[in-house]
Amino acid sequence: MAEILVLVDHVDGAVRKTTNELLTIARRIGEPSAVFIGSGEAPVEALKKFGAEKIYVVDDAEIKGYLVAPKAEVLQQIAATANPGAILISSSAEGKEIAGRLAIKLGSGVITDAVDVAADGTTTQSVFAGNFTVNAKVTQGTPIIAVKPNAAAPEEVAGAGAVVPTAVTISDVAKAAQIVASQPRQSTGRPELTEAAIVVSGGRGTGGDFTAVEALADVLGAAVGASRAAVDSGWKPHTFQVGQTGKVVSPQLYVANGISGAIQHRAGMQTSKTIVAVNKDEEAPIFELVDFGVVGDLHTVLPALTAEITARK
Ligand code: FAD
Repeated sequence: MAEILVLVDHVDGAVRKTTNELLTIARRIGEPSAVFIGSGEAPVEALKKFGAEKIYVVDDAEIKGYLVAPKAEVLQQIAATANPGAILISSSAEGKEIAGRLAIKLGSGVITDAVDVAADGTTTQSVFAGNFTVNAKVTQGTPIIAVKPNAAAPEEVAGAGAVVPTAVTISDVAKAAQIVASQPRQSTGRPELTEAAIVVSGGRGTGGDFTAVEALADVLGAAVGASRAAVDSGWKPHTFQVGQTGKVVSPQLYVANGISGAIQHRAGMQTSKTIVAVNKDEEAPIFELVDFGVVGDLHTVLPALTAEITARK
């Protein structure tokens, strides 16, 4: 069975949920191997838990502080010996850049923003502001696939987790751009918007009062999003914006509150697995794409919903 390389997405060794999703997808295609680039102790147990059969550990002392180019070289060098059936990377801004650079190095086809990957490597993507669903497959070289968060429910399957310490040589050209400072964003205490399994968003219909939206988000353990109208009104920073000119999310559950459902907003959320909307206008276009819709005032409906969920916990 072909080895499938998964680039581990982590923060100081804490493995992100997207990696567990990639390992789950990798198991559909072949035998998952994780590639961990980092210093300190590798998160072997965390990666084994989601099925990593092998864990390539690359100490990043030499490449830490450089931009993404060295990571593409790491994957290139591991691929040269492992000869994998595919390489899976998280479809973040960084992941997509690594995928593109790696594709050039390997002479391979690359697919980004996949929302699903089948056992034969066929991917599903949502394109042109969500107006088309495309199925694509890499036909040349080692398929390199960048997969969006929440593309699969992570499955716990014990893998062998054989650690393979791996030495790599990084070219000077890959070290041509260096990070001079990095400032972690202040944590909201909620999950990251693009990674969250549940997103609760508010639009102009909130009238600027996100209390009910945030209370529902907190009881669900969700991230908070916003429409551009809410962001342009200064109610939430741009980092909260969902849509064509904001973030594209694909959670298990998306709850749109006081959002009309403009095409530019849909572009950022319509691949969500289940969509719920609360809107006081029963003609609002958002109701065309929902799985469940509530016609009502969000300031009444959301507190009732939050109270009900709290009572059932
Ligand atoms: P509205 O369209 O004003 O809708 C508000 C809704 O709230 C209405 O349906 C109303 O019935 C409902 N409502 C009002 N009060 C209540 C209440 N008390 N309870 C329940 N419901 C209530 N938009 C984005 O969101 N993201 C983008 O990335 C984005 N990019 C854009 C890019 C371009 C180039 C352009 C031209 C536009 C873009 N837009 C984007 C803007 C988009 O076209 C819409 O203007 C915007 O999405 C509208 O936001 P909204 O739904 O919150 O507001």
